[in-house]
Amino acid sequence: MGTHAKILSESYGVPHISTGDLLRLQIQKGSPLGKRAKTFIDNGQLVPDALVVEMVRERLGSPDAQKGFILDGFPRTAEQASALDEILAERKIPINLVLEFDTSEQVIVDRLSGRRTCTKCGANYHIRNIPPQREGVCDACGQSLTQRKDDEPETIRKRLRVYREQTAPLIEFYKKRGLLRVVNGDLEIEPLQSELSRYLK
Ligand code: AMP
Repeated sequence: MGTHAKILSESYGVPHISTGDLLRLQIQKGSPLGKRAKTFIDNGQLVPDALVVEMVRERLGSPDAQKGFILDGFPRTAEQASALDEILAERKIPINLVLEFDTSEQVIVDRLSGRRTCTKCGANYHIRNIPPQREGVCDACGQSLTQRKDDEPETIRKRLRVYREQTAPLIEFYKKRGLLRVVNGDLEIEPLQSELSRYLK
């Protein structure tokens, strides 16, 4: 749901912090973290908690994150959720809202398998829903678009399994704390944005 996180980050003037984007950036740079993360990502597995948590801790310490942020794709495990609580408690920052995008598997598979990503700036498109002006070329920076290795059908199925086993339990965790709101992730971009705006007044 990076598309929605990006839109919200622009309208609220707070950074969009996507752990997937941060990890892909490390891979592009060829850093030690990127090298370790790549195998897990390409296999559709989660990158180990300790690595992701350290990366998030550092990112949340940047000046631009002091007035709020939108986390996308994090936390994804119970351990990450409690690490997040610790990081935020140290900095006296509350969690205002946790959003669940309740999306049918068929829609997820369709969105991910049709996704095309810019090799340079990371912008996302979809072959039918958000096509670039010129096929295979990024509108923003003119570089070529590719399909992420983890957006191939077999890896998508694995990622869904990982989600059900390791991430879905967090729904109950945040529901109990009264922070969770559910939106219908099957909706197209605009109706979903208006559903979201109800929770963000
Ligand atoms: P995403 O772009 O959010 O779909 O993430 C792509 C991949 O990056 C995931 O399938 C994981 O391999 C890895 N990843 C992203 N965020 C996390 C996280 N919070 N914990 C562990 N792995 C992550």
